[in-house]
Amino acid sequence: MPNRKKQLIILTSGGDAPGMNPALRAAVRCWLHKNASDKGEKNSYIVIAAKNGYNGIINWDVSERVKTSGVGGLLARGGTVIGAGRCENLKEGGSFERSYIKEKLDSIRNDLAGLIVIGGDGSFRGMKEILLDECQVRTIGIPATIDNDIWGTDLSLGVDTALNTNVELIDKIRDTAAAFRRSFVVEIMGRNCGYLALATAIATESEALFLPEDETSFPRLGRIKRNLDDLFEHKILDTVVIVAEGAKLKLPTIENILQTYTKWEIRSVVPGYTQRGGSPSGIDRILGCRFAWKAVKGLKEPLKGPYAKVVTLRGINIELDNNLDNIIKNSGKNSKIEDDNYRKMKNLQWDLSSYCTPLGNNIGNSLLVIHGPDAPGINAAIRAYTRIAMKMKIGAKFTGFRTIAVRRGLEGLADLFLQDNDFIELDWEKTTGFSYTGGVPSNLSQLYNIEPIHAGPRDWLKKK
Ligand code: ADP
Repeated sequence: MPNRKKQLIILTSGGDAPGMNPALRAAVRCWLHKNASDKGEKNSYIVIAAKNGYNGIINWDVSERVKTSGVGGLLARGGTVIGAGRCENLKEGGSFERSYIKEKLDSIRNDLAGLIVIGGDGSFRGMKEILLDECQVRTIGIPATIDNDIWGTDLSLGVDTALNTNVELIDKIRDTAAAFRRSFVVEIMGRNCGYLALATAIATESEALFLPEDETSFPRLGRIKRNLDDLFEHKILDTVVIVAEGAKLKLPTIENILQTYTKWEIRSVVPGYTQRGGSPSGIDRILGCRFAWKAVKGLKEPLKGPYAKVVTLRGINIELDNNLDNIIKNSGKNSKIEDDNYRKMKNLQWDLSSYCTPLGNNIGNSLLVIHGPDAPGINAAIRAYTRIAMKMKIGAKFTGFRTIAVRRGLEGLADLFLQDNDFIELDWEKTTGFSYTGGVPSNLSQLYNIEPIHAGPRDWLKKK
């Protein structure tokens, strides 16, 4: 038998994140619609929105009957319309606050199906200690934090929007950086987790990165200084250095050291809370809906007694994780330390940003890159392909592959044996800035002053 209790309480707690509103909207609608099929009982199902996190239950500051129409228009709104909030007394064990919550939930226990808590790892600790252990009610958590430090989910609500905000911001910073040949040091939020900083660095082609997960900061600083010097020598006109909020070396220290020991003129930017605001991205809107749908389903499970679970995104699947203890233990500070994908992302960032000198003419192997119709991201892929190929080592013989882009995709290649064709040799310098260029590289020769090679690849390679 599914859970037939009819009242659902929803709250948004801790730091706000874009995507909380879409999740709230979907949870309300799924709860009311899902139950509408219960004949004759349609109007007896109720959603109560508690305001400002757990404070709403403590003070019984709530919207008593949220209607489907009442959550219209929320997909596009940042923050949370029911208010987020912290109650530090709860964390410190505050017995008054805890007893108010218990008293209130006891008074509606017979009709309370459960709670949905939209928040971060702190909010989930509250869910475990208070809602489950003390109050013995059913709860489902929806991860929402731009820090992406919740263990067990690939993404939390807000991360994608914050990443897009950072990309837009750093693209703008690049304009001044290039105009004045400066290096900008930018601090990215994330508390003790470096995910947002790492994703931002990859998406913006940032040349250097400091993360909380770095084992030691000083060797990394040495490598980064050398890399910035190399870039300067090779007349790369602008660079961006990302410092995660929780990195061991802080922004002012890094700024001072780079100013003193590199040739770059340094400026710094701290975007701060702009990263937490804004209309949710497409991904966060969809994720909010999918998380909420799963949370509502989770509350209707025909299990006996109270439980607490968290919805997660794993690959493309939305799942319900019932090991809350594990999630709480591993979230926050070290949530990414043992994550293999995170380690690979870190290595990728370094491979793509550390300078590689041109391979020279005596290197044997070349790889052709052929693309289909244009789509944003093709250029970023070609940049990554070129740079990784340059650094690839196969046996003792080859120490890297040069990349030759074929214009006009397969069509261009088909022309190849009939007539002279255009080939473009790409290398580290020529692929700088590809990530923020749309389209495909067939028109890059104009954009980047890359000389096309007017010959078939065999002829061209023979000449080299
Ligand atoms: P987030 O959920 O974004 O990580 P916080 O860590 O500030 O944000 O937690 C939000 C709220 O959750 C706290 O203000 C407090 O009310 C509650 N909370 C956090 N940790 C605990 C805890 N150990 N026990 C009970 N409640 C907690």
